[in-house]
Amino acid sequence: MSNHAEVIIIGGGVIGNAAAYYLAKKGCSVIVLEKEDSLGNGGSSRNGGGVRQSGRDKRELPLAMYGVKNLWPTLSEELEMDVEYYQKGNLRLGKTKEHIKILEGLTERAVASGLDVTMIDDKQAREICPYLSEEVIGASWCPTDGHANPMLTTLAYYRKARQLGVRFITGEEVKEIRKIKGKARQVVTAEAVYEGDTIILAAGYESRKLAGTIGIDVPISKALLEVLVTEAQPPMFYQMLGTAMADFYGHQSTHGSFVFGGSSGFEDVNKDNGTPVTNSLTASCICRGIMKYFPCLSEAKIVRTWGGWIDVCADHVPVISQVEEVPGLILACGFTGHGFGISPTAGLLLSQMAVGEETALNIKDFRYDRFQAKI
Ligand SMILES: Cc1cc2nc3c(=O)[nH]c(=O)nc-3n(C[C@H](O)[C@H](O)[C@H](O)COP(=O)(O)OP(=O)(O)OC[C@H]3O[C@@H](n4cnc5c(N)ncnc54)[C@H](O)[C@@H]3O)c2cc1C
Repeated sequence: MSNHAEVIIIGGGVIGNAAAYYLAKKGCSVIVLEKEDSLGNGGSSRNGGGVRQSGRDKRELPLAMYGVKNLWPTLSEELEMDVEYYQKGNLRLGKTKEHIKILEGLTERAVASGLDVTMIDDKQAREICPYLSEEVIGASWCPTDGHANPMLTTLAYYRKARQLGVRFITGEEVKEIRKIKGKARQVVTAEAVYEGDTIILAAGYESRKLAGTIGIDVPISKALLEVLVTEAQPPMFYQMLGTAMADFYGHQSTHGSFVFGGSSGFEDVNKDNGTPVTNSLTASCICRGIMKYFPCLSEAKIVRTWGGWIDVCADHVPVISQVEEVPGLILACGFTGHGFGISPTAGLLLSQMAVGEETALNIKDFRYDRFQAKI
């Protein structure tokens, strides 16, 4: 089989798979190289499923809004697989006057960027979600936010891309990207050399190391996030939930279980040779927060916890960018813990960049060289 394709994608997470799908839809030949034995084993299968516009940096907000308006509502139909997308809004809750002040600040900034978010009082919040504790005194409310199932979304993009002819090779760790005649061209693994007219680097936090092999530095570090899942509960509420103090975030899934993410501050303590393992304190910290806001969940049993690495960009906004010094290379990394919600938009933009089409949105804020000192 040929090791050449018009586009080689490094990384089989939701970003790589979405880009592969949109490229295949345009008729491009694509090879996706994934170092693990299974696709989506990075943040893409481990995340909290938030498809959120509220709380986004104003540079990233247009990507989130574009996806919520144009891509998420029809994604299950388009990919012929239910990705469990719910657009039931986002409640960010507050229990004290200080919390309300924080929420008002967030709301003001979001409204100034063109998002429909409002402050609501306790009564209005309870009309939306009757299960809130008496302690809740107000919330910010974004009716168009939602959530989806990350594992199914990653799988759905993979399956559809594969049906359209994309070649996925797992267990294939990329070691190096090489130039030929001044252009990124070769992708080298232990077993083979792949050649592409365009190379998309979407390898999560490992993108930095790989970009370094071709002389480009992207300021990304890694951090661990943790999630827990409860046993299935009766259908209760399907809003995306969060709090002013970010004690936790989460939602109820189609299966009935609640998926909650949060932190204890001790996530880094249990680092195990790069394996993302959970800290024994984090789940209890998350639960303490949840029970104050949702006493109805006090008896829910936790069936599983897990951790996952995120690729934290220096300014917390992704790099989605061509690279002037290395024609043919496109970077897609640094999603900083909020790349799932914008994955359809990011995948679409990457496909447009790779074939030289005008992008659906202006992507100048995501340039790779924005960190350089201006002379
Ligand atoms: C616990 C947790 C909760 C989160 N919650 C949310 C949320 O609610 N909403 C939201 O929008 N986002 C959330 N995120 C962030 C989201 O998961 C990521 O931004 C998104 O999955 C990024 O996708 P990706 O494809 O870039 O990265 P990844 O899923 O990490 O994929 C990168 C892939 O590249 C592969 N790879 C790495 N190095 C190589 C190599 N050398 N050769 C070949 N392949 C390689 C990896 O194995 C991996 O499969 C969360 C993340 C975590 C960990």
